[in-house]
Amino acid sequence: MRKTISIIGSGFSALSASCYLAKAGHSVSIYEKNDTVGGRARQFKKDGFTFDIGPSWYWMPDIFDKFFNDFGKSTSDYYHLDKLSPAYKIFFSDDVITIGDHMDQICEEFERIEPGSSVPLRTFISRAQDHYNIAINKVVLKPGLSPFELVTKDTITRVDRFFRTISSDIRKNFKNPKLISTLEFPVLFLGAKPNQTPSFYSFMNFADFGLGTWHPKGGMYEIVNAMKSLAESLGVTIRTNCNVEKINVEHKKAKSITVNGKSIHSDIILSGADYHHSETLLDENYRQYSESYWESKTFAPSSLLFYVGFNQKLKNVEHHNLFFDTDFENHAEEIYDNPKWPKNPLFYVNFPSVTDTSMAPDDCETGFFLIPIAPGLEDTPELRRYYFDLIINRFELRTGQNVKAQILFKESYCVNDFIEDYNSYKGNAYGMANTLMQTAFLRPKLKSKKVNGLYFTGQLTVPGPGVPPALISGKLVAELIQKNEV
Ligand SMILES: Cc1cc2nc3c(=O)[nH]c(=O)nc-3n(C[C@H](O)[C@H](O)[C@H](O)COP(=O)(O)OP(=O)(O)OC[C@H]3O[C@@H](n4cnc5c(N)ncnc54)[C@H](O)[C@@H]3O)c2cc1C
Repeated sequence: MRKTISIIGSGFSALSASCYLAKAGHSVSIYEKNDTVGGRARQFKKDGFTFDIGPSWYWMPDIFDKFFNDFGKSTSDYYHLDKLSPAYKIFFSDDVITIGDHMDQICEEFERIEPGSSVPLRTFISRAQDHYNIAINKVVLKPGLSPFELVTKDTITRVDRFFRTISSDIRKNFKNPKLISTLEFPVLFLGAKPNQTPSFYSFMNFADFGLGTWHPKGGMYEIVNAMKSLAESLGVTIRTNCNVEKINVEHKKAKSITVNGKSIHSDIILSGADYHHSETLLDENYRQYSESYWESKTFAPSSLLFYVGFNQKLKNVEHHNLFFDTDFENHAEEIYDNPKWPKNPLFYVNFPSVTDTSMAPDDCETGFFLIPIAPGLEDTPELRRYYFDLIINRFELRTGQNVKAQILFKESYCVNDFIEDYNSYKGNAYGMANTLMQTAFLRPKLKSKKVNGLYFTGQLTVPGPGVPPALISGKLVAELIQKNEV
């Protein structure tokens, strides 16, 4: 039963779904409003510098492998991966912690900071590995249709880990605040505070210390190029500069989309665009979630970003660098509890040109600076300027060098751009957070409850934010379509 399927958006989840649906024999077309594919993972090139606009951490390489393996391919058919060594560096106000690329090195670093801490660390990571195996191989692969999906022998025997928080687990075993911050960092990818994230999510710590941090040569956009090329080889048609203006419904059945003023008939419509925006493309009576529903949800942060070209190599930096030299609790409060521009923000900087010479001209450095902020904040040129000065001064102080005079150019990106470019709800960067009450069947659904033939995928539905979850989200929705519609 070959169906005509129209997909809105070309982020990772949409590209993933398109591959599975085309492989199943359907006629699949992607309609993307921007002029390039990849959603938030677009790339920006200037004067020989290459910047990944969005994601930069390549974690969970097994998920990428599984995706390409499903099509008889492997990642190495498309891009070259390097394991970063060290994985990253964390700057504190009085010390620098370097995270190596295997457990022995990491244990040594923990011992340096807190003697004896390598013993609980190994236990913690071994438990995190157990969580990873269950989460990735069982829980995350469920479509979030019912609470019973979560009830398995593995989860029942570990049910306490859904009701304790990762923060309390870490604090029970480690006393040094720097080690606590180091272990809480991976949870930030889930979009919520560690003291609101269930212990079970320590699987992110195994992703970090156990599986390592990788870099596709040429940048994260290589993954997009790979998936685009795979999709096209499977027969998917990809159309850019195609803004979907409306999802048209007749008798509770999705019938067509309106693209640049023209109606395109489809048997099935799948939106990989921001879920909230996708519902605004429907008449109000066909929307499942009210504005107050979205308003009540915990969203992952937005970001203020700077893409900076430096005319020389910088000292004392690695590919990935975290600046945790201010109070994490205060910054988290300003993101989640009392949303406002942060007083003393933590920030993250990557220099892909440290390990990949193709990312910058000779003897130059490509710099990406990110400050996590609450979604929906006022975004003005003055604020952007103020925060750039603030973090570049701290960057100079912590790394012991002057870099301002070495800046060839800088571009910024913030809330207004996320809204303008991706129709992102409140300008969120990473979608909806994975708190206990926003996990699995408690997230917005893959299938519309009000419109037949209408589906959703991406970081606001299951399983959640991040590139690997987006690949899985595409697979889950494709399986659901196959089950329900064919
Ligand atoms: C700054 C930043 C850093 C990140 N860092 C990491 C990281 O290091 N590692 C990691 O794993 N993840 C990271 N993430 C998260 C990750 O990038 C996202 O979770 C993932 O890319 C989301 O993919 P998606 O499929 O949900 O869709 P999106 O990327 O949101 O794509 C949706 C697409 O739909 C299009 N669209 C919207 N409206 C319409 C319309 N009306 N018509 C047609 N098209 C439309 C948009 O233009 C967009 O291309 C980061 C994200 C950001 C923003």
